[in-house]
Amino acid sequence: MREIINLECTECKERNYSTKKNKRNTTGRLELKKYCSRCKGHTVHRETK
Ligand SMILES: [Zn+2]
Repeated sequence: MREIINLECTECKERNYSTKKNKRNTTGRLELKKYCSRCKGHTVHRETK
């Protein structure tokens, strides 16, 4: 049931993180505030395929 997803920075579109998501617990797109090395700060990262 777990699926590996990538998280991309919504500012620069860099893919910085990969994580696992449990489809049964999480509905819709994941959005997390994470550090982006290109933006040099915390930005919203969104799930991508
Ligand atoms: Zn960025």
